[in-house]
Amino acid sequence: MNKIMVLPGDGIGTEIIAESVKILKYLNESFNLDIEYGYDYVGGISIDKNGTPLTGETLDKCKNSKAVLLGAVGGPKWDSTDPDSPRPEEALMGLRKELGLFANLRPVKIYKPLVSASTLKKDVLEDVDVLVVRELTGGIYFGERKRIKEGGSTSAYDTMAYSDYEIKRIAELAFQTARSRNKKVTSVDKANILENSRLWREIVCSVHKKYRDIELNHMYVDNAAMQLIRNPGQFDTILTSNIFGDILSDEAAMISGSIGLLPSASLREDKFGMYEPIHGSAPDIQGQGKANPIATLLSLAMMFRYSFGMENIASKIECSVGKVLDNGNRTADIYTDGTKLVNTGEMGDLVLAELKKLSD
Ligand code: NAD
Repeated sequence: MNKIMVLPGDGIGTEIIAESVKILKYLNESFNLDIEYGYDYVGGISIDKNGTPLTGETLDKCKNSKAVLLGAVGGPKWDSTDPDSPRPEEALMGLRKELGLFANLRPVKIYKPLVSASTLKKDVLEDVDVLVVRELTGGIYFGERKRIKEGGSTSAYDTMAYSDYEIKRIAELAFQTARSRNKKVTSVDKANILENSRLWREIVCSVHKKYRDIELNHMYVDNAAMQLIRNPGQFDTILTSNIFGDILSDEAAMISGSIGLLPSASLREDKFGMYEPIHGSAPDIQGQGKANPIATLLSLAMMFRYSFGMENIASKIECSVGKVLDNGNRTADIYTDGTKLVNTGEMGDLVLAELKKLSD
């Protein structure tokens, strides 16, 4: 039995997850995959129902599954500058930390028919195929933080720390993954300023000694941000820390044309994974049928690839998405003149129809 926890979350999370579940249900029934899936609340909706963004019970259900499929969390309803208010995003940090998901894989590929949806020039986009390998359970998002009120003024700090162990395991994964790609790793840091970045660079170099078939170069994060726009085709696998990976992968997302296209996998050593689109809950388009479900459908494909070792099913989903785009169908975020505008549900149905054709 393959158990999956489905956590739709907030905003467009419920809309895009519904499309993934359509596909999951079809695959499960047609290919006898023996998958059992259950739902639970997470994020803002969990604050409303349970007073906390992630309950111990939800976490236990995730721990007892093989994979988690997540929509997105957050929204203006739960935004507060009061440091004591529960925040939906704490659920993500809790899931990553408690489930030991130390590695985040974010592939950025250019679909040929979508070249015109990108804000970059066509010739810059040719052959872009980048994988961002982001460290996910360390660094500044998990370091000590505090707000201090002294006299009449207030200050706050966050700390960015990495251990040699944390750097080593993410570097190993990046080099191993690069082996099945173009064998090139760019390690991104800020070693000209930050001490933890200097340790990062040192450890990456020492791990590299085991992977001499892989080309390694180093880049400062400010330069990497610039190079991603100037010449994204120079990158194959980008290895970086939590905060730098967060920012660079959103930037890389825009290269592809829309944040609504990019999936992600958060993994630990034993293949357990949490799969989610890289975008947030997009409250500005919630309930309007404008959400692009493709990032979530491709996240489902990653789940089949990484947690279940079902490459065949993963490729079928990716192929179906490619076909639907080839046929000119577009949600609002990637719509251009001469293409066909479809809503969230229609996009899911079209991918399902292609999948059925492929499976005949
Ligand atoms: P966002 O990713 O939700 O939205 C950014 C922009 O991209 C918006 O204009 C939105 O309409 C668009 N967009 C996002 N996903 C789309 C999709 N699938 N199809 C079409 N357009 C899409 O980021 P934000 O506006 O900064 O954050 C909104 C909320 O989401 C905040 O509460 C934030 O904290 C939260 N958030 C959650 C996650 C997560 O759950 N992993 C990640 C990022 C942000």
